[in-house]
Amino acid sequence: MKFNFDNTFINSLPEDKSQENTCRQVFNACYSMVQPQKVSRPQQVIYSPEVAQLLDLDDEHCKSTLFEQVFSGNHILPGMQPYSTCYGGHQFGQWAGQLGDGRAINLGEVINSKQERWVLQLKGAGKTPYSRNSDGLAVLRSSVREFLCSEAMHHLGVPTTRALSLTLTGESVLRDMFYDGNSKYEPGAVVCRVAQTFTRFGHFQIFAARNDITLLKRFLDHTIQTDFSHLGKPSVDTYLAWFGEVCQRTAELVVHWQRVGFVHGVMNTDNMSITGLTIDYGPYGWLENFNLRWTPNTTDSDHRRYHFGNQPRVAFWNLAQLANAIVPLIEHSQLLQDILERHYTDSFQRSYEKMMAEKLGLDKFDESLISDLMVLLQSTETDMTIFYRQLAKINMSGKIDFTPLTYAYYDKGYLDAHYQRQLQTWLNRYAAQLKQEQRSETERCSRMNTVNPKYVLRNYLAQQAITAAENGDFTEIHTLLDVLRRPYDEKPEFSRYAEKRPEWVKCSMLSCSS
Ligand code: AMP
Ligand code: MG
Repeated sequence: MKFNFDNTFINSLPEDKSQENTCRQVFNACYSMVQPQKVSRPQQVIYSPEVAQLLDLDDEHCKSTLFEQVFSGNHILPGMQPYSTCYGGHQFGQWAGQLGDGRAINLGEVINSKQERWVLQLKGAGKTPYSRNSDGLAVLRSSVREFLCSEAMHHLGVPTTRALSLTLTGESVLRDMFYDGNSKYEPGAVVCRVAQTFTRFGHFQIFAARNDITLLKRFLDHTIQTDFSHLGKPSVDTYLAWFGEVCQRTAELVVHWQRVGFVHGVMNTDNMSITGLTIDYGPYGWLENFNLRWTPNTTDSDHRRYHFGNQPRVAFWNLAQLANAIVPLIEHSQLLQDILERHYTDSFQRSYEKMMAEKLGLDKFDESLISDLMVLLQSTETDMTIFYRQLAKINMSGKIDFTPLTYAYYDKGYLDAHYQRQLQTWLNRYAAQLKQEQRSETERCSRMNTVNPKYVLRNYLAQQAITAAENGDFTEIHTLLDVLRRPYDEKPEFSRYAEKRPEWVKCSMLSCSS
């Protein structure tokens, strides 16, 4: 196992002068050099062959003891220079000051055989100066969720950080899962995440908040040179073009989330990637019954700041914070405001309309058709994923029989005559629109099935895999990765994984504890 490392982040940006691995404020620096904590009994749970391939690793490499040692943090390969980065952020709308990689340690930047740059990052590998009196560790439960969801999102076509491997450490980690005073020991684990960059909005915010404009400029110049080199040499114009691109990518990201029914759960500015990736899988969740107000995060259940329907607005707010951070480099805040409107608000609206039309197999977005559908979906508990797949199955060219849709409802008692009339009316309007667009039924069905997944990481499926893994059985994690690898295919042998959430898991909410 040999990588070609080119650690530009630490080679071009200033380092923390102190070598002390204690929790503290780190000034005048972008990162601190740290060593991952040694663990007693590393044991591989799973790896992603697709991510391995990005790094030019084959199965033999991934199944080796060396791999297990390296990606649990026990062994540092030549060329690896472990470091944690400094960032800040707004958490739930409030400025939270310095946050940083509290339990993430970057091992280095790999240049693969295609000359692509991939950063390797261990999550849960122990304390760093940014750990804020926490342990820097992660438990199996949250690591399974991060591993599976990163890969599921990628296969769904949603931009995301990737996961190379999930390794048990052999250590026990104390966690109060529901924040109710009942702490217990859980198995510790480390995920190796992989992305072209892990830079977040909060990286810019921390230097701006400290009025360290020199470092802010250096950091932005470095970001442009490494991750946005197509924009040209850093200058005020390039900064503006860069901000426009971040807006654009963020808009596309959120449109994808709304398409597949993903709720991030903690859209704090430190969890927003500048390249528009889904990052930091914590208390995320997948919509089962369609509900715009739903959030999986118990920590946010009072204010519901990060609920499903609010994600587009929150992304705008977060981008506005990023704009505030770079104002000192631009001086004209109005320019940034205009870019935000054009490259986020307008472009989100355009992409969202296109996406919603595609979910129905239509070319043209019809606002009232879509908004009436939203009302319909929420008037009785309707499984969003199943609804769109079943809708593709209905023959819309003759007399409409909506029987396939009844499978999407959680409570059949609600399907009263009034609801059925409304549904019928909506389907008739939909049929009329389809007729206008003169699309064949087979074409409509196959188009819809390329944007409406059959398989998503339903919250209870992840939980079942976690429970089995905590008892030493990893087969369900492997099966889920297989299922989620081709989420738009029918695959009858896996149909169990496309079923509605069973009654016994009705109120599955998650806290931030991980
Ligand atoms: P999150 O809400 O997961 O995005 O985390 C917010 C901040 O808390 C980040 O700076 C994390 O690195 C840090 N953090 C979360 N969990 C831990 C932990 N167990 N140990 C140290 N730092 C943590
Ligand atoms: Mg985070």
